[in-house]
Amino acid sequence: MFLIPQVEVQETEEKGKGIFATDIIEGGTLISDYLGKVVHSDESTDLYDDDVVFDMWYSDKVDICPDPDKPGMHTANTSCEPNCGMGAIGRRTTMFALRKIFPGEELTYEYFLGEQDEDCEAGTDNCFCESPFCRGTMYSNPMHYDAWDEHVEKMVKGESEDPPVPYGEQLPPLDKYPESVEDDEIYNIFGYREEEPHKCDMESFKSVKELRKLIRETGRTLKFSDIGIIVEGVIFGGHVIYKYIR
Ligand SMILES: [Zn+2]
Repeated sequence: MFLIPQVEVQETEEKGKGIFATDIIEGGTLISDYLGKVVHSDESTDLYDDDVVFDMWYSDKVDICPDPDKPGMHTANTSCEPNCGMGAIGRRTTMFALRKIFPGEELTYEYFLGEQDEDCEAGTDNCFCESPFCRGTMYSNPMHYDAWDEHVEKMVKGESEDPPVPYGEQLPPLDKYPESVEDDEIYNIFGYREEEPHKCDMESFKSVKELRKLIRETGRTLKFSDIGIIVEGVIFGGHVIYKYIR
C-alpha cells in the first residue's frame, strides 16, 4: 500500500512492472508498507508462478503474500544503486526514500537476498539495473548480507513470531505511520547521476555521516572542486565512492 501520492506503477521494457516518482519525494519519506495475505511460510510460494515470487518474510513461520495485480511495494525492482531502502516497523516491511528522489525516477531498493537457491533457473536472478556498480545478480554481497541479517535481528527483537491476524487474512495497514525514517549506515547511498552534482566546500568533507546527510537531502552527487572529485555515493562499511574530475 502506497502511503504517499507521488508514485505510480508503470510497465518497464525489461523488468516487468516498476514504481516511478511523479513528483519530488524528500529523503527519508516513508513510501509504502508491504501488505498482503498472511500465509504460513511453507505454503507461500505455492501461491505464485515459479518465475514471479512476491512472498515477504515476516517471521520464520509467516510470510506476507501480496496480490501481484495490485499496486504496492512488491512491484518495485531491485538495483545495485537504489534510491530507496527496505525498512521495518516491528516485523512489517516498508520502503522509504534513501535520498531525495526526482520526478520520473524509478524507485528501487536492494532486495537483500542471501544465498542463491541451487534450483534457481539460470538467468532468472540477473540484475538489470544498469548501474556502473551493478553486481549482475539480485543477490547481495555476502558480507553486506550478513550485516543486514544482524540488522534485521535487532529490528525484530522481542516481536512475536506469530501472525498478527489469523492465517489467510490480509495484514491490515497500521492506524498511523511515521512520516520519515532515519538514515542508517547499513544502506548504500548514491546521488542521482542524471542531475547536476551539488557543489560542496571542504567543510562538508569531514565525515561519512555528513556526506550521507548531504546526499540524502539533495539527492545529488557531491562536487568538491578544491580537490577535484565528485563523491558518487557511500557504501556499507563507510567506503566513499568517488571519481576524479581533473
Ligand atoms: Zn544491478
